[in-house]
Amino acid sequence: MLYRKYRPQKFSEIVGQEHVVKTLQGALESGRVGHAYLFTGSRGTGKTSLARIFAKALNCDYRRNQQPVIGNQLKADSRRPEAVLTEPCDNCHFCLAASQGNSLDLIEIDAASRTGVDDIRELNDSAMVAAPGGGYKIFLIDEVHMLSKSAFNALLKTLEEPPAHVIFILATTEPHKILPTVLSRVQRFDFKRLNHGQISEKLKMMAGKEGIKINDEAIKTIAMSADGALRDAEVALTKIHASVDPNKEVSAEDVNEILSLVSYKYYPEFLGRLLNNDRVGSMEVIQKIHMSGADMENFTGNLVEYLRNVLMAKINPAVLASVSGMNDEETKNISTLGQSVDSQRLIKMIVSFSNARNEIKHSPVPQLPLELAVIELTS
Ligand SMILES: [Zn+2]
Repeated sequence: MLYRKYRPQKFSEIVGQEHVVKTLQGALESGRVGHAYLFTGSRGTGKTSLARIFAKALNCDYRRNQQPVIGNQLKADSRRPEAVLTEPCDNCHFCLAASQGNSLDLIEIDAASRTGVDDIRELNDSAMVAAPGGGYKIFLIDEVHMLSKSAFNALLKTLEEPPAHVIFILATTEPHKILPTVLSRVQRFDFKRLNHGQISEKLKMMAGKEGIKINDEAIKTIAMSADGALRDAEVALTKIHASVDPNKEVSAEDVNEILSLVSYKYYPEFLGRLLNNDRVGSMEVIQKIHMSGADMENFTGNLVEYLRNVLMAKINPAVLASVSGMNDEETKNISTLGQSVDSQRLIKMIVSFSNARNEIKHSPVPQLPLELAVIELTS
């Protein structure tokens, strides 16, 4: 998998999340490292990657050789260049073991599969024992919201009074499920969804290094389909790379076909007919999209996003400039559409299509919820 090969190994390789990187590097530099961190944010935004990099930097041999004292007040050594303190060397015994996932000092637990109180008791016992490498013992608990209540309470005991050599990094996509008693003991970082530009840049780098021939339009199409999750985009690129003739340049059409996406040209066409109250014409577009094998849920979701952009541009035209990854033609389509329809009608459409999108999953006929929305909106 390409995403594994190009998984970031240093802070400088992380895409986005500058606010988190800056704070963690600040802690490394000052030596004021906390005992518990909570990384929250939607899937594929780099929580686990960043947790591993932070762990590496904390236990990196280069850093520790200069700093024998373990505790909250590691003192930065003035003789060492800053870079050594704020980046893992990625070459020492600890860094290599952690990168390969077989370090005894970095213990990764997937709470989705180990939710019970016994698992956490085991963790608590392990936390009491010093790290075999003599540095920090770092527990990375992924999907921490999946822990049972009793497991959470058991974890809380160690979180309340963690041994000096222990650091917890908890990660979750659902922070609202974390008990307030836990929240009050952690430093929380909210990871942001990545924008199309950030995702495109990483994909371009990967394609360049792998010698994948792909044009900008195709890169952009992948980036937009990923909904802010870099990992999804990287997995998509792998899939596309495996499916197309390596001597041919990958186009946006190839991407649409392989990922079952709807070409962007359909959005203005569909909305144009809908706004003209052309019920039959709108239905024809839906049928055409369905016959192309595209995923109706994805189409309807993007339709809502498209309409939202139209509404936002109507309220404040300046926002269009901040929507990255859009070309001039799309920007023009959106502002033209905004001028031809009033806000109330747009809102009605957004609500109607949002509901349709939620219903598609359970509908025996995937295009039916969308068709019903069209009938409602054109009557
Ligand atoms: Zn190292």
